[in-house]
Amino acid sequence: MKRLILAIDQGTTSTRAIAFEVSPQGGFSALAVSQIELAQHFPQSGWVEHDAAEIWNATLQTCREVVREAGGIDRFAAIGITNQRETSVLWDAATGEPLHRAIVWQDRRTADVTARLTAEGHEPMVQNATGLILDPYFSATKFAWLLDAVPGARDRAARGEVRLGTIDSWLTWKLTGGRSHVTDATNASRTALMDLKTRVWRDDLCALFDVPRQALPEIRGCSDHLGDCDPALFGAALPVHGAAGDQQAALVGHGAMRPGDAKITYGTGAFLVANVGAEPVISTRRLLGTLGYQIGEDAAWALEGSIFSAGSAIQWLRDGVGMISDSRQSEALARTLPDNGGVYLVPGFTGLGAPWWQPDARGTVTGLTRDSGPAHFVRAALEALAYQTRDLLEALTADGAPPLAVLRVDGGVTANDFAMQFVADICEVTVERPAFQEMTALGAARLAALGVGLIDDLATAPSETPAVWTPRMTAPERDTLLRGWRGAVKAAIIAAQ
Ligand code: ADP
Repeated sequence: MKRLILAIDQGTTSTRAIAFEVSPQGGFSALAVSQIELAQHFPQSGWVEHDAAEIWNATLQTCREVVREAGGIDRFAAIGITNQRETSVLWDAATGEPLHRAIVWQDRRTADVTARLTAEGHEPMVQNATGLILDPYFSATKFAWLLDAVPGARDRAARGEVRLGTIDSWLTWKLTGGRSHVTDATNASRTALMDLKTRVWRDDLCALFDVPRQALPEIRGCSDHLGDCDPALFGAALPVHGAAGDQQAALVGHGAMRPGDAKITYGTGAFLVANVGAEPVISTRRLLGTLGYQIGEDAAWALEGSIFSAGSAIQWLRDGVGMISDSRQSEALARTLPDNGGVYLVPGFTGLGAPWWQPDARGTVTGLTRDSGPAHFVRAALEALAYQTRDLLEALTADGAPPLAVLRVDGGVTANDFAMQFVADICEVTVERPAFQEMTALGAARLAALGVGLIDDLATAPSETPAVWTPRMTAPERDTLLRGWRGAVKAAIIAAQ
């Protein structure tokens, strides 16, 4: 029996393929990995682009490498895709060539459009329909920009000659030799064009954002059969049997399938996704309402909050100010102090995300004294991860999300034992890090394995023993620290005004 799944993890900075073997008990082990870095283009301030052709070539190359390494295409049952979300591609339906560079999720070029729509009072309607706030982050305004920027594209869209899609759609189109123009419902939930509850494109939103519906892909479930690969690519018509956006795939990778299950990925930034169950929740605290996953007709919704600067604060201490020479030193340096000495660092380098949404806020350090030194900066940067996580969890509670049993974590920063204990202490929650760290790729593999019947359900969490941190800080200590943090956030916001 074919027991291997080819997971494609198309991220912001690299493209990876991983071959997973699925044991008869439903366990997943990685047999081969291949990765290629992705060039970042910054044509203007606030603009970020990727070359969609480069993304496709890297996908093909990494897939071919792992297929070879894992013993050949005949061992594979299916492909699962996970991808950077919101990044938008416009391509020619006849040739399959991109008509412009892809506009990356971080790109702010359409800020004037979302500002105008906000001023016109459209945000409540958009939020109620999609769960999202009006922000250039989401694909709708990027799609419209692409159609306006490429000469003739709008006319050609009306004639059905061009296609729009997020990276999952682009890759599925290329893998299937142009036979499938589809997206999964989690990626679609990030466009601001999909009705969050019914999971169909909405004509009123397509009209508001000026995106022709006929250029959009068909919306499918996360384990659906999305098409078969062109046999010329790998030597067999391997089915593409699942897709999910990266954060949602990580939710599935962690096995966070029940209401109240949540995961946070601490990388450059940090992304919290909390499973809220079988009904969408529209946030009152500026969290994002989004789809967790859709399996067949069953769906689970989620609330999401992002921290713009997490590990990047540690990178700044290393590369920007040179207080450490390696991220790993941060832990030992933080531990040289008995406490933070009243020093707080609000890492608002690129503004503050949920629940503050202060794009103009900047990095702020408070409480410095004559004996503050590098250790205080480092400790304050690590502590900030926990305070920001607490802010997100409080917003979740205020939105009526089910209480958290455990906070599941992954990402580069989780190697830092001091930071993870501090998260447990400040958030008053048990923190769990699985032994296997590739939660995003694992999620895509699990979705595809479910789709082809290699596993029966997604409920079984990864089996290896996780690392666990439990809260042990006293309440008065925590309250004092949180007061200090809130004062620092206030200072960061006031300074920006
Ligand atoms: P991404 O996927 O966003 O590129 P990763 O999950 O690879 O991020 O994590 C990289 C981040 O983790 C970097 O910002 C780095 O500074 C941080 N990091 C790595 N190791 C540690 C550590 N031991 N302590 C604190 N931060 C760390």
